[in-house]
Amino acid sequence: MKIENLDKTLTLENNGGLTFFFVGVGSAFAKAHFQNNILVIKGFDHLLIDCGTLCPYALWNYGINTSSIKNLLITHSHADHIGGLEEVALMGRYISKTKPTMVISDEYKKILWEQSLKGGNAYSEYKNGEYLGFDDYFYQIKPTLINKKPRPIYQAKVGSIDIKMFRTMHIPETAKSWKESFYSIGVLIDDRILFPSDTRFDPDLIYGMLEAYPTIEYIFHDCQFYPGGVHAYYHDLKTLPPEIRSKMFLCHYGDNFSQENPIKDGFAGYAQQGVYYNFNE
Ligand SMILES: [Zn+2]
Repeated sequence: MKIENLDKTLTLENNGGLTFFFVGVGSAFAKAHFQNNILVIKGFDHLLIDCGTLCPYALWNYGINTSSIKNLLITHSHADHIGGLEEVALMGRYISKTKPTMVISDEYKKILWEQSLKGGNAYSEYKNGEYLGFDDYFYQIKPTLINKKPRPIYQAKVGSIDIKMFRTMHIPETAKSWKESFYSIGVLIDDRILFPSDTRFDPDLIYGMLEAYPTIEYIFHDCQFYPGGVHAYYHDLKTLPPEIRSKMFLCHYGDNFSQENPIKDGFAGYAQQGVYYNFNE
């Protein structure tokens, strides 16, 4: 794997290898590193995983705007993951006249629209007795269930990018498993890169996925620097065996990240924003 610096403007195409570009790596309230949103790039295909409140601004900083984004996947409804979606929808419909694609289940489509997007997006038009709906702004790619155990795995394709989606254990803090948690998902890309997105420390998930997909090369894992709460506590992640920590980059971190030294603690390090992770080099 090679880490390459951004050359002024973010490009959404590459030579065909799998690349991650972190638009940001910050936690929900971080101010130093935008928010933990990732662009997956492979050949002529790309996928934006999450679009937080700061995402349109971050993309503008990298030289592109939200209308350049053709495919999205949303992991859950916190503002640092969906706050920029209203702008994406409105820019697409009224400025660029393009309709992006979203990889989304029917279950989450309803939640995302009814509980979050509807207020800002539904009422800009009224036609044939109806206001606008999700499908007026996005094409839906519906993932299909391919495996029921250890937890349900759903699969979708965006061009050549293979996406596997699974539920995570994020909120509320009191939930004992992903089944008791509100909708949140993580993704596995091309059976190579595991990104659980926001989750509490969940060894079942990590071990289960590594067992089911021994081809996993790297894990980009959520972290926080205090116990409890709804993210993975740094010192809990430190209890993972060295062979797992060595392939694990930490992301979604607070501005006080310098209090820990992940490389010294056996991790691959902190994920960096604004660089390309080229997994084929
Ligand atoms: Zn969250």
